[in-house]
Amino acid sequence: MRSVLTIAGSDPTGGAGLQADLQVIRHFGCHGAAVVSALTVQDSIKVHQVLPVFPSVVLDQIRVLLRDTSPDAIKIGMLASDDVVRNVALGLASIGTELPRVIDPILFASSQVPLLERRAWPALIGLFEGAALVTPNLTEAEALSGKDCSTRRGCEASARVFLNEFGARAVLIKGGHRAVAADDLLAWVAEGEIQIRWLEGKRIEAAGSVHGTGCALSSAIAAGLACDESLEDAVEAARSFVRAGIERAVALGKGARFLGLPPTA
Ligand code: PLP
Repeated sequence: MRSVLTIAGSDPTGGAGLQADLQVIRHFGCHGAAVVSALTVQDSIKVHQVLPVFPSVVLDQIRVLLRDTSPDAIKIGMLASDDVVRNVALGLASIGTELPRVIDPILFASSQVPLLERRAWPALIGLFEGAALVTPNLTEAEALSGKDCSTRRGCEASARVFLNEFGARAVLIKGGHRAVAADDLLAWVAEGEIQIRWLEGKRIEAAGSVHGTGCALSSAIAAGLACDESLEDAVEAARSFVRAGIERAVALGKGARFLGLPPTA
């Protein structure tokens, strides 16, 4: 059985964060390991509190785990603080790029509550070097690259910053928050050349927001890569999975709905 390690924040609702990651990783047939980077106090309405885990304990969790087991892919989600980001970098320093890393650069919750302190952004960008994929949404792509992503050209310029300046091997800029077409941009480096593909996305009419879609997408991609799928195949499968999950989203609380996971085969 292949295994995926998620390094992520705890979301007690189970709709996002590492609780959601583990459900998705399992759905894709992999074993899920999890290092907790932060605790949150939240319900389906909003994030009430963010508490980073003691940074050296994040480092110890990663070191002890990686001494014992070898995951086939790593997914990195919410990291909360500058010190936690730096300790994640230390924990992964000895790992080569042959172990794929998928990074969801979470800056804010949908309710606009910061999930990563502002001064940590440079350290987060430092993690992108050699990553198999970084999956920013439009706001995160704009904030981290400094490029206006309101047009296709702007998104492509932003993608170039992730690849050329930040050293990521691929970037998926998620257009789900765009007012009209929810197209995503996938860009990657092949034989020194940047390849760009626009992936068409249909806006799904859903009442209210659906929580944790970014967490599910990046975990599903990491599971695909852990199973030796190509990047494009893993991204396609993950996008269909999230699309189906939004279509069958469930209201378990009073606020945002959660992705409806299809039954495991
Ligand atoms: N809490 C945790 C632990 C998360 O990882 C995320 C993911 O982005 C969120 C909350 C916010 O999720 P959403 O933006 O779907 O509200």
